[in-house]
Amino acid sequence: MLKVCKFGGTSMADAAAIRKIKDIIGADAARKYIVVSAPGKRNKDDIKITDTLYACYRDLEEKGNCKARFALIRERFLGIVKDLGLSLNFDEILDRTEAEITEKKSADFTASRGEYLAARLVAEYLGFEFVDAEDMIRFDSHGRLNDEYTDDKVKTRLKKVEKAVIPGFYGRDYEGKVKTFSRGGSDITGSVIARGVSADLYENWTDVSGFLVCDPRIVPEAKTIRQITYKELRELSYMGASVLHAEAIFPVMKGKIPINIKNTFKPEDAGTMIVPNEQYKAVGDDVITGIAGKKNFTVIFIEKSMMNSEVGFVRRVLSVIEHHGLCIEHVPSGIDTLSIVLESEQLQNGVLTDIVNEIRENVSPDYVHVIENISLIATVGHGMARRRGTAATLFTALAKAGINITMIDQGSSELNIIIGVANADYEKCIRAIYDAFIGAQK
Ligand code: ADP
Ligand code: ASP
Ligand code: MG
Repeated sequence: MLKVCKFGGTSMADAAAIRKIKDIIGADAARKYIVVSAPGKRNKDDIKITDTLYACYRDLEEKGNCKARFALIRERFLGIVKDLGLSLNFDEILDRTEAEITEKKSADFTASRGEYLAARLVAEYLGFEFVDAEDMIRFDSHGRLNDEYTDDKVKTRLKKVEKAVIPGFYGRDYEGKVKTFSRGGSDITGSVIARGVSADLYENWTDVSGFLVCDPRIVPEAKTIRQITYKELRELSYMGASVLHAEAIFPVMKGKIPINIKNTFKPEDAGTMIVPNEQYKAVGDDVITGIAGKKNFTVIFIEKSMMNSEVGFVRRVLSVIEHHGLCIEHVPSGIDTLSIVLESEQLQNGVLTDIVNEIRENVSPDYVHVIENISLIATVGHGMARRRGTAATLFTALAKAGINITMIDQGSSELNIIIGVANADYEKCIRAIYDAFIGAQK
């Protein structure tokens, strides 16, 4: 049995949390490769090391040095070193890091040092070898993970290392410079390492006992999802359920390695198991697995009689969006209608008006209508395909709650129904769906 464990920011926040990490690792000899995040928040008002590092970079740009800000990083790490009673000369490591940050003047390099320093510290504390992620993880010239190259490197680098601590969040770009994943990216590092060493399990240790059916800030009593498939999780995390980075499932998916989301502060809780379809064992009779959503979308609704018989209609509409270099979120369509859903942020400074005018010129629609301030909410569950009447339950619940649905998109996978509602109805909508499917089970 071989396990890769990733510990997130809260699990690294102070000496007490890091002691818990040691207990967890000590409790199971299979936990051999450990990926760590930079120390996160110790309380609600605290600042994550990563955010302080980005601020260091801004200071560097604006003032030419980041001495004062880096002192905060130094103080935080030295505090942990002292509390853990480590004899390591961390001052020297911090001096060198500060000098490198100042010399390199790179936002990614600066941000990556939180994980670097965290991994150096934890390696010393556990008595494991420190293995740098920059020697294994590579991005291609488009900034995407070069997964085959990386997988090869992980295999060869870790083959002879029995127990290692590896910093999360970064690797090297195609020119060899340090580059980070997007925020929360240590989850991806853990996944890459799990695949590379052919782990039996990827344990992702965080501050909640698994994936909840929906955001606990909206439904405080939300239940924990015990088991979920990769595909369902992909839908949920893409739609904003933020426990695990949305891209973290791809590497483990290739190796069919299950992920277990666990709570560092309640290690006895089972957490959530994320598994390939074929490993899913149905328990109970849940129709839906989870609900997630994102705010601030714009829907461009286009109507034209007989649009389906007009060759190239959709392409001409979409080419307008493409010319503006924008990404489309969804394109639900009917017989004579087509809606384009885009993130509102992309449409500022007159872009929306330009797009609407260009659509009018390109395809002469009967009618174009723009609806702004829309939230998208995904109701996900592979049980939905089996069960008749799921959509009816959903829409009845929303009608009862007085929520107007602007857009409906039922994914062809039958795994997911996405609806658009006014931003103002976002929380109410998630609550209504939860009550209709999960609350009713009580
Ligand atoms: P880490 O620092 O360990 O990577 P994150 O902050 O990235 O942890 O993710 C865990 C947090 O995700 C939880 O503390 C919780 O506030 C939030 N969260 C959002 N949606 C959900 C959900 N559906 N289930 C559980 N937690 C959620
Ligand atoms: N420390 C990084 C962040 O705050 C990466 C991570 O925690 O996964 O985004
Ligand atoms: Mg995270």
